[in-house]
Amino acid sequence: MTDVLIVGAGTAGLTAAVYAARAGKSVKLVEQYLQGGQIINASHVENFPGFESIAGFEFAEALYNQAIKMGAEIVYDKVTGLQDYGSHKGVQTEYGGELLAKAVILATGARVRPLGFIGSGVSYCATCDGAFFKDKNVAVVGGGNTALDDALVLSFTSKKVYLIHRSDTFSGEKRLLEKLQEHDNVVFILDSEVTAINGSERLESLGIRNKVSGEEQTLDVDAVFIAIGHVPDNKAFASLVELDAYGYIKTDENCATSCPGIYAAGDGRVKKVRQLTTAAADGTEAALAACDYIDLL
Ligand code: NAP
Repeated sequence: MTDVLIVGAGTAGLTAAVYAARAGKSVKLVEQYLQGGQIINASHVENFPGFESIAGFEFAEALYNQAIKMGAEIVYDKVTGLQDYGSHKGVQTEYGGELLAKAVILATGARVRPLGFIGSGVSYCATCDGAFFKDKNVAVVGGGNTALDDALVLSFTSKKVYLIHRSDTFSGEKRLLEKLQEHDNVVFILDSEVTAINGSERLESLGIRNKVSGEEQTLDVDAVFIAIGHVPDNKAFASLVELDAYGYIKTDENCATSCPGIYAAGDGRVKKVRQLTTAAADGTEAALAACDYIDLL
């Protein structure tokens, strides 16, 4: 029986692990992919207090090492269900059977929102795949920080970067946008949507339609990077904790869900601001609330 079992080893989950372990609890993290979460795909993080600039991967690695050093254990498996046995919880996993814990923190984050196009040359990670398209023409779809960051990363290696956004204003940071505007090889295509992905064995061009004028154009590109936000992945917990209409976990201000002993932290819960800082703050709140809960059992 573990004291605190944390589902998801992103920023929220790893921060929760640091706090729970430092409070003297045994901690197990269950992660289905690689530890670190979404931030490993960010080329640079410039808005985490104390760090003027740090690579997302470097940040995640340092946080992971900190959690493990504190005594947290990590298990690589997919969580498929959750059970409330009153005095403790059961966490079902795909390969490792049921794991038992006194308290559970759901820090499952969110996964990329698909655009409905797949195939060779369609990517959801510029940091991972950008280097394959050195000196080629590429496109990025989206208008948030991920899209701006991706376009900036690609502008250093690609010949031309088309940034296609469905609105005429960006929701990403002004400073990031200003940096991007300094690059002559970045072409902004606003109020526009991707209507077609053309090519037989690999991507050759994109069909684009301007939503205001109705004008259509074809862009010759070798790759398109989709960066249109994220969606939560909480279906496995829906029978036990209350979700909102979009699938995010409802919590109180201490990250407690509708089920006593189960907490939610990070991008997967209902909240307004989804940032690295708020993920870390959630991890802290959830861990300390879980420790209090265990102490009163
Ligand atoms: P986001 O902020 O939710 O932005 C999603 C973007 O995709 C919006 O521009 C949205 O357009 C567009 N979009 C949504 N659905 C679409 C569709 N079906 N077709 C076309 N466009 C669509 O997502 P994000 O950029 O991935 O950022 C997620 C969070 O991570 C944010 O809080 C962000 O600040 C953070 N982040 C931080 C860093 C960093 O600090 N370095 C880097 C990356 C991300 P509309 O505006 O028209 O709705």
